[in-house]
Amino acid sequence: MNSIVSLKNVTKRYVRGKQSVEVLHALNLEIPAGDFVALMGPSGSGKTTLLNLIGGLDNTTEGEVIVAGERIDRLSGGGLAKWRARHVGFVFQFYNLMPMLSAERNVELPLLLTSLSKSQRMKNVAAALTVVGLADRARHKPSELSGGQAQRVAIARALVADPTLLVCDEPTGDLDRTTADDILGLLQTLNREHGKTIVMVTHDPKAAEYAKRQLHMDKGSLVTADALHA
Ligand code: ADP
Ligand code: MG
Repeated sequence: MNSIVSLKNVTKRYVRGKQSVEVLHALNLEIPAGDFVALMGPSGSGKTTLLNLIGGLDNTTEGEVIVAGERIDRLSGGGLAKWRARHVGFVFQFYNLMPMLSAERNVELPLLLTSLSKSQRMKNVAAALTVVGLADRARHKPSELSGGQAQRVAIARALVADPTLLVCDEPTGDLDRTTADDILGLLQTLNREHGKTIVMVTHDPKAAEYAKRQLHMDKGSLVTADALHA
């Protein structure tokens, strides 16, 4: 199978002093190219932990994590950061924009790690802002944007380096229903028309309906839909 994400027996434990807490238990997961997955489950079930392993923001305790053809559980530090810059775009609940920078400077940030020239960077930034429908807000600071617009800028930033996959952690968690639907529609368009593979954490069943399929977590394990309805 042409998987973008392949997890094999992935276990995650947090250790503090003599205490060890296992928060993911021997997970297996395959996500093919072009998928749009909604990862659902109660608070504390391990969704963010799993997403951060897929995005290379954190390391496993045991098991294999293969993303975009690389054993990322074997990478660390600079190697992992380089891999992330090439392959993953992140979208967070609270946008995580730099408040002092305009929308276009925020979107440009991931490109500063590449060898693109200034004019190439600005061309890509303009294209990404156009995709999210915010070309006319390029010079605005985050404080001059609505929540929905700020999240669009964050999505443009996540896209600008043309990553292999987008990982989104509760991307509509801070937005009203109408704005959330706009953002989810945008993610759906990125998946359907631009072929972006998306893994999105959400606890909102309406948000999950925009995905191609839904995965459910409970207490650190992935549970099948059948198990939920049993
Ligand atoms: P979710 O995103 O589903 O709400 P998380 O992945 O954030 O869940 O957390 C899963 C479990 O792991 C929780 O019990 C949480 O307390 C624990 N946890 C998360 N991050 C850490 C950490 N850095 N150190 C210790 N425990 C953590
Ligand atoms: Mg979370």
